[in-house]
Amino acid sequence: MICVYPDFYRRFACKAGDCLHSCCRGWEIDVDEESSAYYRTLPGKLGCELRAALKQEDGVWHFRLKDGDRCPFLREDGLCRLILELGEQALCDICALHPRFYGELNEFEFCGLGLSCEKVCELLLSSSEPLRFVLDDEPEPIDFAALLRRMGLEPAEELLRFTPRPTQGRYRELLRRMAETEPIDAAWPEELAALRE
Ligand code: SF4
Repeated sequence: MICVYPDFYRRFACKAGDCLHSCCRGWEIDVDEESSAYYRTLPGKLGCELRAALKQEDGVWHFRLKDGDRCPFLREDGLCRLILELGEQALCDICALHPRFYGELNEFEFCGLGLSCEKVCELLLSSSEPLRFVLDDEPEPIDFAALLRRMGLEPAEELLRFTPRPTQGRYRELLRRMAETEPIDAAWPEELAALRE
């Protein structure tokens, strides 16, 4: 397989306690079988807390969230107790992987970073240069058109160019679609309303 990464992939590092919209809040965290077996047999106070926090539903283990839909092991300062007390290797698969994801197509494996993570958005938007891609077997990063050609596709030039056409109608439509998304926090609907005004 030839791995393909966006050029900022290796610069990703979780913001931990500095993250405003932590992924350790608001999402149910499924725990893989191997990690749940480890947690369920861990001795000591933390082991007792893990067992109390774990719940199995339809054959899948997950953590019972606390008030505010917080992971029970997320501290007030935004740091993870499991990392601090057991080390990163103790994380279950989903916590160790997020926000990375992988997909395969023919001989390529695409390695991505999800835009639900604020650090990933910051990395993506930190450069005004076109996004480039790193391939295992290419000495230099290549642009999107070159990546498509490596995949045996011949992209039509007009499909690769986005020309913004800012009109009131387009902005209204954009705001309408944004209003359909689940608010990430209480400030989001207010910001949308202010933009509509
Ligand atoms: S959203 Fe991203 S930066 Fe924030 S805690 Fe999760 S992985 Fe870290």
